[in-house]
Amino acid sequence: MHAPFNRCVECNDVIGHPVCSDCLSEKMRLFVAEYDARLAKSINSTAIYGSSLCIFCGQNMALCPHCYSKDIYLFLHQKNKRIAREFLTRFDFELRKKFN
Ligand SMILES: [Zn+2]
Ligand SMILES: [Zn+2]
Repeated sequence: MHAPFNRCVECNDVIGHPVCSDCLSEKMRLFVAEYDARLAKSINSTAIYGSSLCIFCGQNMALCPHCYSKDIYLFLHQKNKRIAREFLTRFDFELRKKFN
């Protein structure tokens, strides 16, 4: 998959604060592991290459942090609602407006 420059493949917004799903999933796994180590293992990164560069590791990316967090949130919400709620307080990429 390839995205037009600097736009998210999912929401088509300009990615203003690029953090790739590898970097985010690492933080999210650590967070979920505090509650449920097995669930934490099922959080995977979604590598989609585009022309935005992650501000932490510099790799190409095309899915904005908001969309990636939303996917993980919806996944957690199915598995464990309490963790999903905590997740919103930690990784709030404007998700709370939508889900709270
Ligand atoms: Zn997006
Ligand atoms: Zn990164």
